[in-house]
Amino acid sequence: MSSRTANETTNHFIRQAFDTLDLDETMRTVLLTPSRELRVELIITKDDGSIGHYIGYRVQHDDTLGPYKGGLRYHPAVDVDHVRSLASLMTWKTALIGVPFGGGKGGIQVDPNELSERELERLTRRFVDAIHEFIGPVTDIPAPDMNTNARVMGWIFDHYSRYHGFSPAVVTGKPVDLHGSVGRDAATGRGCMFALREVLAHDNKTIAGQRVAIQGFGNVGSWGARLLHAEGAKIVAVSDVHGAIHNADGLDIPALMQHVAKKKTVVGFAGAEMIDNDQLLTCDCDVLMPAAIGHVLTEGNARDVKASYILEGANGPTTVEADAIFNERGITTIPDIYANAGGVTVSYFEWTQNTQQLRWDEEQVNNRLDQHMIAAHKAIRATMAAHNIPMRQAAFVTAVKRVLAGTEARGLQ
Ligand code: NAD
Repeated sequence: MSSRTANETTNHFIRQAFDTLDLDETMRTVLLTPSRELRVELIITKDDGSIGHYIGYRVQHDDTLGPYKGGLRYHPAVDVDHVRSLASLMTWKTALIGVPFGGGKGGIQVDPNELSERELERLTRRFVDAIHEFIGPVTDIPAPDMNTNARVMGWIFDHYSRYHGFSPAVVTGKPVDLHGSVGRDAATGRGCMFALREVLAHDNKTIAGQRVAIQGFGNVGSWGARLLHAEGAKIVAVSDVHGAIHNADGLDIPALMQHVAKKKTVVGFAGAEMIDNDQLLTCDCDVLMPAAIGHVLTEGNARDVKASYILEGANGPTTVEADAIFNERGITTIPDIYANAGGVTVSYFEWTQNTQQLRWDEEQVNNRLDQHMIAAHKAIRATMAAHNIPMRQAAFVTAVKRVLAGTEARGLQ
C-alpha cells in the first residue's frame, strides 16, 4: 500500500516535472487544478422493483490543447480522488502522444457484476441525463475504461443524441457497427506492444523471446497478451480478479482466449499452474505488464520484482516509493502516459472519422498509431538526454512543456 492517494501519486510525478522545468508557483497551481468537477446522484429502479442509488463523477482537468477526453470507469473504488488523478493523467497523455485533446475522466461508484445488463443500461442513461450538458463532440468526449466497453459507449451515443441530435463524436470506443473505428478495441494493447518494441530497440533487443507476465486480462491485458505473443514473446503468467496462472514455458494464448471466452476467467486453464495473484508481480520474467488497477507495485514488492522492464498498461500502477526503487535498481519503467496512450490515440482517429464522415481501414489505423508511438518515444528520449532523467519524468516533462506552451499561447487573461 502507499501512504499517498492516487491523485497525490500523480501530482508527485507532475511536480517532479515542474521541478525539472523550474516552474513558478502560479503556473504549478494552474496546471494541477482541474477546471471542473461534477458529482451526480444517480437513482434507478432495479429489475426487482427496488431502488438503486449510485454516485457518478466527471472531472474535466484541462482543455488547453483540445476538448476534455478520457474514459469512464464503473468500479466500487471510483471516488473523486481517483477520478481527479485519472483526469490529470489524460491531460499529459494526450499532450505527449500528440492528439488535439485535453484531459478528463469519469465513472460511477458501482460493482457492475451486481447489476443486470438492463440495470447497467438504465444507470448509464441516468448518467447521461445528469452530465449531457457538460459533454459533447467539441467539449468533452468519454471513452471506455475499466468495466465499460463498446456496448456502454453505444448507449451513451444513443442517449446523448436524444438530447442533442445525431452525435457519434460525443463518445469513442463505440461498436464498429455504430460509427466506431476498426482497431479501437485492440488499440491500447497494440500501443503497449509498440511502446515496448521501441524501448527494447533502444536497448538493442526485440520482443521475440521476452518472457512477459501480465496482471489483468481485460481489454488491455488480453490484447497485450495476444499481440506480444504474436510478436514471439513468451507470456509466462496472466491474472484476473479471480486468480493467476503460470507456465514457465509460455502459455498457449490462442487456447487461453478460447478458455476465457467460455469461462469468463483465466482460472482453470489446463495448460498452466495456479499461483497467487501477488506472486505474478514478482515471478521470473523480463517484462512485467500491470494492466488492471492502480498502486499494485509498492514499497512492499518493488525490491522483489524480477523484470527488467515495467510496461504500464494500467493507469497509475506504481507508487512513488516503487518508482524510486525501480530507478535505483536500473529497471526501466515505461510509464502509463506513454505505454497505454494507444487507446486515446485511436479514439482520436475514431473522432476524426466521425466528424468527417470517413471510414479508415485497420491497416491505416494501426500504421498511424505506430507513427504516434514512435514520435512520442523519440520525444521522450530527447528529454531524457537533455535533462538526464528517467523515462517517467521525461514523459511528464515533455507533456507539461507542450501544455504550458499552449497555455501561454492562448493567454491567461
Ligand atoms: P477491463 O475491465 O477490460 O479489465 C480489467 C481486468 O483487470 C480484468 O481482467 C479484471 O478481472 C482484472 N482485475 C481487476 N482487479 C484485479 C486485481 N486486483 N488483480 C488482478 N486482476 C484484476 O479494463 P481495461 O479497459 O483493460 O483497463 C485496465 C487498465 O488499463 C485500467 O487501469 C485502465 O485505466 C487502463 N487503460 C485502459 C484503456 C482502454 O482503452 N481500455 C486505455 C488506457 C488505460
